[in-house]
Order: sequence, then structure tokens, then C-alpha cells
Amino acid sequence: MNTITQDLGQGITLVDAQYGKAGVVAIYLMQQEDEVAIIETGTNHSVPHVKNALREKNLSFENVRYIIPTHVHLDHAGGAGELMHQCPNAQLVVHPFGAQHLHDPAKLEAGTIAVYGEEKFRKLYGKIRPVEAHRIMEAPGFFKIDLNGRELEFFDTPGHARHHFCVYDKQSAGIFTGDTFGLSYPQITTDKGPLIFATTTPVQFDPGSLLQSIDCLTSLQPEVIYLTHFGAVTPTPELTKQLKRSIRRFSNIALDFQTKPQNRVALIQEKLIEYLLTVLKEMGCHQSPEFCEAVIRADMELNAKGLDFWLSKSA
Ligand SMILES: [Zn+2]
Repeated sequence: MNTITQDLGQGITLVDAQYGKAGVVAIYLMQQEDEVAIIETGTNHSVPHVKNALREKNLSFENVRYIIPTHVHLDHAGGAGELMHQCPNAQLVVHPFGAQHLHDPAKLEAGTIAVYGEEKFRKLYGKIRPVEAHRIMEAPGFFKIDLNGRELEFFDTPGHARHHFCVYDKQSAGIFTGDTFGLSYPQITTDKGPLIFATTTPVQFDPGSLLQSIDCLTSLQPEVIYLTHFGAVTPTPELTKQLKRSIRRFSNIALDFQTKPQNRVALIQEKLIEYLLTVLKEMGCHQSPEFCEAVIRADMELNAKGLDFWLSKSA
């Protein structure tokens, strides 16, 4: 088994969760002397990679003090139960709206099966292991924890999901943003820096809240943003502008189909891809449109499903 890690400095290591393939989902280890926090868990299949990454640092599951999924979507929290089972000294830190779902994952499983279908679900996630209630710590807005003297602060960031928080690390002036600060894949390169865009996954996408949450994050004046999909980016004003523009544009693309429910998901998906490929062309993208489309296609399917749900809900 080939574990892929990247040292990001400040005691922070990216571990590739290898969610289907490499370069899609990041898990972050934060080491403060002999204590470790794990931010994002990937799935059950990612757990051996976390173990290997810890071993590379002469650490083990015993050193893990906190396990912190940014929200309970299963590419972020699917491995939380299994990891908690393996890490005897860890507390699970989760948004108050997500806590119950990780204690009793039945609803979460059912909801995800509704998006992916049973067969794909089992292949991607296996069986979600519940976490005992006494090991769960709920983190509302402005909640703080201490990792061996290192302060982590939680910010409530709805918009992608209501059960989403972001984690501010004072020491690195960095924020672990989960899905709130969008997606940016390093394999897509352009003359004008990284492409970043919003994720509108079902079923709680709310563009107004998402824009507000992004403002909340930028008001902290972070020096680095640790994206789950994928890796560290520098939050320049241009990057933030690009991200916010994608939220408005994606919503407007969906609204064009408000009165046309026929085949809506597929049609929205094509428009989203078309939009991002146009942006990439304007930015002087170095890769072919076919290459870029292959990178973003699955996300745009999920985005289209989320926007379709959002239209139905607001109708
Ligand atoms: Zn998500």
C-alpha cells in the first residue's frame, strides 16, 4: 500500500485519503510534540494511510488526542468511527448539528445512499461505525480546544452544509476549511494561479449563507487555507473573488432551469462544466479541456444534484 504524504510545515502534514484515487481528499495531521489532531478522516479505507503517516513520524494512534471532521459528509467523516475505534485517547470534535449523525449513522447512511445508490455506497464507504456519545465533543461557533498548548478555534460556517465548521489554527494563521472555501485541484494549472470554485453538494446548499461564511473566514486574515479538496492555497483577494463569483454563477445557471424540471441535473452539469472550462481558458490554462473536464466532472455532477435539490426546495 502506497501512502502519499506532504509536509506543509508548522507540524502539519497532508495525508492523501485516496478516495477512489489520489489527489481528491486530504486528511491533515497536526502534531504538537507528542499530541496529534486529525482534521478530516476520509473513509474507512483511508485509516491505514493515517496509520502509516503517523508511523513515519514515530507516532501511533495512541498519540491522537482529537479527531475533527469539518462536517459529516462521508468523504470528510466516513472514517471517523473507525478512527475513533483505533485511537483510544481521542475525542471526536464535531459541529453540534453533526454529532448525532456520527453517534447513530443510520440516517447519514440512508441519505448518502439516496445520492450514490447502495452499491456505490458500500464500495466507497463500507459500514459506518458509530461513535460512543461520551467520546463526542460538540463545537459550536467560537469554541476552542487545546492541543498540547496549541489553540484551535471553531467557526460556524453554514452554506455548504449546516453541520459545517472551519478550524482556525492561530500558530500557522491557517484555516482548515473543509468544503466552505470551495475546491481547487493542483493538477489544473494556469497562468493566473489556481482555479477555485464552490461545491453545492445536496442537500443543504444555501448561497447566501455560504457567501457570509466566506466573509467570516477572510475576516480572520488567514495566511494559508487548507482545503480538503485539495491541499494548501494562499487566500489572495483574487482567489476569494473567484470563489464568490462561482457561487453566484452556479446559482444563476441553476435558476435558468427553475421552470424546466425535465432532465435538469444533466443539463445543469453540462452548463457548470462549460462555465468552468471558459474560466480556465481565460486564465491561460496549461492543460487540455478534456483533461480539465475529467478532473471536475464528478464534482459538477454532485454540484448539479445539489443545485437541483436547492431549486426544488425553494420552489
Ligand atoms: Zn461536503
